[in-house]
Amino acid sequence: MSEATPAVHVLNKMANFFVLKEAEGATLIDTGGKDRLENLERKFAALGLDLARLRRIVITHAHYDHTGSLAALRQAGSAKVLAHEQEVPFLTRTRRLPRPAGLAGFLFHVAEPIFRSPPLPVDQALRDGEVIAGAGLKVIHTPGHTPGHICLYHAGLRALFTGDALVSREGKLEGPVPFFSADISQARRSLQRLLELELETIYFAHGETLREGGGKALKELAAALSEKAGSGRQAGGREN
Ligand SMILES: [Zn+2]
Ligand SMILES: [Zn+2]
Repeated sequence: MSEATPAVHVLNKMANFFVLKEAEGATLIDTGGKDRLENLERKFAALGLDLARLRRIVITHAHYDHTGSLAALRQAGSAKVLAHEQEVPFLTRTRRLPRPAGLAGFLFHVAEPIFRSPPLPVDQALRDGEVIAGAGLKVIHTPGHTPGHICLYHAGLRALFTGDALVSREGKLEGPVPFFSADISQARRSLQRLLELELETIYFAHGETLREGGGKALKELAAALSEKAGSGRQAGGREN
């Protein structure tokens, strides 16, 4: 990869989102929940950035805590919006996001129209395995939480941006959150895709950044989850 290594800044509004400050501008991973443009401008200014220098916004998935300010940011500058091809219809709103099971699904269905960003075009549909030119981010399709959910990997930083594929709580890795996941079993299987990465740092949308030992922690989590799934099957237990 020819791109220089960017500086990563963590911002938060409902969920963490990330500014990758590059020599020529910046890439945003997700936007957090809905915020006022002046607040976003202030947060960017604190990083020495003008919103006009934002070159692209890469979306991990269409949930409103990750895309709430997408329309506002897109209008404010000339940033392109990128998302996995299977997530595009949820952003353009030609399809509604799959509804999670049970009460969570009901709550999601009610809350989503209030908090989500207006429908908007996606400039570039992403595919599994491609590296986003200019940003050096590799797309890893991790379906389950939503159909077109992606994680993003930066080889130069040895860092992974997880979206909601997994979370951390009090410094410990946990699997995908069942609460808003469309297909939790598929989301857990998708974690296998992350095990081959050369990894040090993990940036979570929900939870504290893990600075070191990310690869090892991820392998331990995957082993614990598959053990749990195995013992659940033996006992005839259901996944929760
Ligand atoms: Zn989500
Ligand atoms: Zn989330």
